[in-house]
Amino acid sequence: MHEFAAARGPIEAMIRSSDLEGLLRHAETIHGHVCPGVAWGIQAGHYAMTTLNRKNTGMEEVVAIVECNNCFTDGIQTVTGCTFGNNALIFKDLGKTAVTVARRDDGAAVRLVVKPNFRQRLFEKYPAAGPLFKKVVMDRQGNEEDHHRLDHLWHAMAKKELQAPITEQFDINHLTVNMPAYARIFASVCCSICGEEIIETRVCMRDGQPTCLACAKEHYFILTGNGITLTRD
Ligand SMILES: [Zn+2]
Ligand SMILES: [Zn+2]
Repeated sequence: MHEFAAARGPIEAMIRSSDLEGLLRHAETIHGHVCPGVAWGIQAGHYAMTTLNRKNTGMEEVVAIVECNNCFTDGIQTVTGCTFGNNALIFKDLGKTAVTVARRDDGAAVRLVVKPNFRQRLFEKYPAAGPLFKKVVMDRQGNEEDHHRLDHLWHAMAKKELQAPITEQFDINHLTVNMPAYARIFASVCCSICGEEIIETRVCMRDGQPTCLACAKEHYFILTGNGITLTRD
């Protein structure tokens, strides 16, 4: 293996040896904390990568189609290596904690979606979590100690969730998907107003001059914690 291509090696080794706790630890480096949602992403991503058995070097050999932008998605990005930046992460704004991971060469894919009422089942399994989650996350009312307690609880819950049988957590379907085309490479142009470089597909013309959507006060799509919407500056 080329020395520069080895950085994902430890993750691949953890996938092969089913070291889900190791993967969870790794996910924390991008997610910032450990929680049940990211643990489910680890589980689903691990199942998919084991099933598809395809190495991912970030060149779209494997594509992950997520249906939510929540903690789950960071678990998926960690394990599959399909990320926002390497064009192998496709986001369907459906608000479902679900992912389809597909292999480019033959379209073989697996879709995992959490069982219905998974949130309710989670809070039934861990009765202390519900009120604390509401106080700290939903109402943003927690003090430092509440945050600390939730952090401990989430770590414990996440580790336990990793051990639950995958079929208890997810509905799983094996399927074949039509793979999206490889991401195209476009030329860049400079905005005639701000002078910043823009990919040519995002240029609009103002008085015959190429202009960015922000300077032109045109609508563009924005992805926030609330999903994809249209906005303008
Ligand atoms: Zn989280
Ligand atoms: Zn501009």
